[in-house]
Amino acid sequence: MKLYSTNNPDLRVDFQSAVFNSMPLDKGLYMPTFIPVLDEEFLQHLDRYTLPEIAYKVASALLQDDIPADDLKAIIDEAINFAAPVQPLDDNTYVLELFHGPSLAFKDFGARFMSRIMGYFLKEDEALLDVLVATSGDTGGAVALGFLGVPNTRVTILYPKGKVSDIQELQLCSNGQNIRAIEIDGTFDDCQLLVKQAFADEELNRKMRLTSANSINISRLIPQTFYYFNAVAQLYRAGKRKIVFSVPSGNFGNIAAGLLAYQMGLPVSQFIAATNVNDTVPRFLESGVYETRPSVQTYSNAMDVGAPSNWVRIMDLFKGDRDKVKELVSSFRYTDEETVKGITDIYSAFNYIACPHTAIAWLAIQDYRKQYPDVAGTSAFVFLSTAHACKFPDIFNAEMAAKIDIPEQVEVLKSKTKQATAMEVDFSAFKTFLLTADEA
Ligand SMILES: *Cc1c(COP(=O)(O)O)cnc(C)c1O
Repeated sequence: MKLYSTNNPDLRVDFQSAVFNSMPLDKGLYMPTFIPVLDEEFLQHLDRYTLPEIAYKVASALLQDDIPADDLKAIIDEAINFAAPVQPLDDNTYVLELFHGPSLAFKDFGARFMSRIMGYFLKEDEALLDVLVATSGDTGGAVALGFLGVPNTRVTILYPKGKVSDIQELQLCSNGQNIRAIEIDGTFDDCQLLVKQAFADEELNRKMRLTSANSINISRLIPQTFYYFNAVAQLYRAGKRKIVFSVPSGNFGNIAAGLLAYQMGLPVSQFIAATNVNDTVPRFLESGVYETRPSVQTYSNAMDVGAPSNWVRIMDLFKGDRDKVKELVSSFRYTDEETVKGITDIYSAFNYIACPHTAIAWLAIQDYRKQYPDVAGTSAFVFLSTAHACKFPDIFNAEMAAKIDIPEQVEVLKSKTKQATAMEVDFSAFKTFLLTADEA
């Protein structure tokens, strides 16, 4: 696979460079020069295949020139080693649960695949790869658990003190081995700025091999296409052939992967992009004016993004044609009050407990059905559940909270102790830490 930059269609880099650089120097995003369409026979009979088989088929269509078949198979089997079940709620409403991985959020798909791809490309004799990541909560846990024990890699996570949930903090701070956490006395933006300063620092780049694990990395996008095909496979088995996906969206990586899958032949009729009040994309689709805003804090905090970085990828997939995007993608936004009502309504109607992000995707289905009653009558609607409800304990009333199953990996976390280096927002302290801390 060759990639260009959304800011420079003439650029050509190979997959390995795009993975390690994350972002082109011109600050565009990498996109594949060629998007393969999967064969009709496979697409019509998705129901015959398992998740690992589907993942391999999709990945090899994209990466066959970059990674030999057996190696790619091994990477997939190791990275995608948990289920992504579609659960029926009623005759035409389904929830695609993407939270059965180690960090209990869909980001495990991207982070686990990326970590193994990087591990694969790192030759034994090459320098240690230092992965820097700033997190507001979910990304850090997925990246930490994704890279844990991956040879030749060392991960440094920066998180804002007091601004992540207890479970999230333990996921970041209890790993040991090749994972280190720094608790920054500041905001997420401060953490991100420190990481950016490190990437721009000449001395650090000379002495260390730095890379980023942020969500714009192309190797995080590819594995997110797998579960869309696998969801369609499960709906085929349920006799459903006309399918609408509703995706809770923040940085728009998840839905960008769905739209990439669509261009590879994913048989779906519509996408719904559901946001909280950080509604840059819904406003753009309505008005044609793309105006980013500073993010506003909400209950669905993983979607508190005022300038969604993957949106340029989506526009690129549709050659910049907003009308084309609007034909395929509807969008809706919700306040915190509506989110809480959504959580309660889902619980009353289906006895199902949804995290706040997930509830927003369900709300959008309700509004879509009202707006397009004709489509609604003949379609199966699938909303993506991006995180396990137990990660957001403060949102639920006592009755619901008591019913949330606590997964085993959370019980294990509770017995662990937090290990983090406390730090002010101070680049020279961060730099000294990076240059002097023990080699993993
Ligand atoms: C990251 C995240 C999202 C948003 O996904 P994007 O790909 O950034 O649009 C939604 N829900 C949860 C739980 C997340 O962690």
